Amino acid sequence: MSVDLSSCNRVVIKVGSSTLTGNAGANLDPKAIDNLVDVVAKLRKENKEVIVVSSGAIAAGLSPLGLSSRPSDLITQQAAASVGQGLLMARYTESFNRFKITTSQVLITIEDIKRQGHVENIKGVLNSLLKLGVVPIINENDTVGTDEIRYGDNDGLAALVTTLITADLLILITDIDGLYDANPKDASAKQIHRVSDISKIDIKTLGGAGAAGVGSGGMITKIEAAKVVTKAGIGMLLTSLSDLPSALAGGEVGTYFYPN
Ligand code: GLU
Repeated sequence: MSVDLSSCNRVVIKVGSSTLTGNAGANLDPKAIDNLVDVVAKLRKENKEVIVVSSGAIAAGLSPLGLSSRPSDLITQQAAASVGQGLLMARYTESFNRFKITTSQVLITIEDIKRQGHVENIKGVLNSLLKLGVVPIINENDTVGTDEIRYGDNDGLAALVTTLITADLLILITDIDGLYDANPKDASAKQIHRVSDISKIDIKTLGGAGAAGVGSGGMITKIEAAKVVTKAGIGMLLTSLSDLPSALAGGEVGTYFYPN
């Protein structure tokens, strides 16, 4: 694995719903958030600027609504996200407080990033927050947009934000420990640790959405995200949350997509 963290000043870390629910079924797992925040705090201590792109609003909204699983209709998913977003942020705030790190909530849509005026505002605010030493926590504004609920679980949003603020690295955290050359459930599937030519990846042979059924992403949207950032000259690391500390220390875990 070849992440050279010493040359990365600005890092975007995206975490999806299925990682944040971990062993807690459809509910948020506070330990998963703490584990992620531990890594972010370490990066901040090394003076790196970090932006977190986090799903989990829908998952956090399920239990207050008395739901045991993600609803199938879009409008109830959006309603659950509205209930859960504040709770998700409260959990992040509590966890970052252990390190006296200030966080902020940034809710945007893919369309905002494509719209002149909005995009300059987003860029300006994110740069300002980073300068102030804050860790911005971005999620899709699920009342307004549904791109990432329907497809991608914020993988696409994270890729666009990474290029927008010219970060040096995008880290996509996934429940699988990296990219495999076939469905990872097949015993013969082999992990690929480095991808230098993304055009050689055959997405048809890769696995589907997250195991817990609480997110909407999958390997395909991760490869699409890798295409966007590597084309912009930025590297992308795909790793599980448990392997993240080792991956950032240069261990041979996860999959690193080299910038194009
Ligand atoms: N914005 C959604 C959430 O926070 C992410 C997409 C999803 O979970 O599908 O839950």
